[in-house]
Amino acid sequence: MIVSVTGATGFIGRRLVQRLRADNHDVHVLTRSRSRAELIFPVKDYPGLVIAEEPKWRDCIQKSNAVVNLAGMPISTRWSSEIKKEIKDSRIRVTSKVVDYINASPGENRPTVLVSATAVGYYGSSETRVFDERSPSGNDYLAEVCREWEATALTVNKDVRVALIRIGVVLGKDGGALAKMVPLFMMFAGGPLGSGQQWFSWIHVDDLVNLIYEALINPSYKGVINGTAPNPVRLAELCQQLGEVLGRPSWLPVPDFALKAVLGEGACVVLDGQKVVPAKARELGFPFKYPYVKDALKAILL
Ligand code: NDP
Repeated sequence: MIVSVTGATGFIGRRLVQRLRADNHDVHVLTRSRSRAELIFPVKDYPGLVIAEEPKWRDCIQKSNAVVNLAGMPISTRWSSEIKKEIKDSRIRVTSKVVDYINASPGENRPTVLVSATAVGYYGSSETRVFDERSPSGNDYLAEVCREWEATALTVNKDVRVALIRIGVVLGKDGGALAKMVPLFMMFAGGPLGSGQQWFSWIHVDDLVNLIYEALINPSYKGVINGTAPNPVRLAELCQQLGEVLGRPSWLPVPDFALKAVLGEGACVVLDGQKVVPAKARELGFPFKYPYVKDALKAILL
């Protein structure tokens, strides 16, 4: 199979590229910066990997059997009105482009599947509700971003199978949420952020990559699929388990006002959570390797 991947240079994308290559699939890395991508995927380790900047994306997509769309500006940063605009616009811009290129492919050569990222932020936040794929969307800024992101992906031609993966907080080595939390714990300054009662719907990066891979090859994977582990935890529990695995205490709660001082409105990413369960993945019999957070943390950190 030939797979074009946007956001391939990112935390999730790099592992997906490795997984696809390990199974002898051809990968087209669609990037904004060829030189940066070449540093991430050196030729000696990735012989034959195609790396393409615009205006070559169209050609790459039209030669592919499948497309994975992961690109978007990181959201864990201090939000200003310009940054909020770019968080949304970057996702819509790349997704529209991908969809236009797929739709413009001649019918017989068109990619047959689009796996497009979205996020559990779609559901809004709650300390009490449980969200599955049938739950309605929330009414905050991130929910709006996810709705528009998903709606854009769904403008792809109807004969293309679409899987929208609503991704939770991805745990893995060298990036994502743990890269920010672990150094605090190692300095004995780790602890719950805010009240600690907010839900943390996480997934081990290997499970997420396997879920995306399965969505590429298995025609039963279509529509919205939550990319979260079966056992979400409250943030206080995550921090306690993280402290235990690292052999460090989890005693210093970080108050809301301090987070808001650092992250502004963007603090909602860590202060407000949601309990999201992977009902569809369970129905499809997806085999989670890491259903429990402690096992995921041990596999990543020990
Ligand atoms: P990263 O931030 O690590 O990588 C995203 C990639 O998107 C980058 O490598 C970059 O590729 C591209 N990108 C960055 N900024 C822009 C921009 N302004 N315009 C266009 N493209 C841009 O993301 P992750 O791998 O962590 O996540 C992948 C997707 O999954 C993201 O869309 C994210 O929102 C979503 N997600 C991730 C979660 C997580 O916990 N990691 C949780 C929920 C959703 P290049 O420079 O090569 O163009």
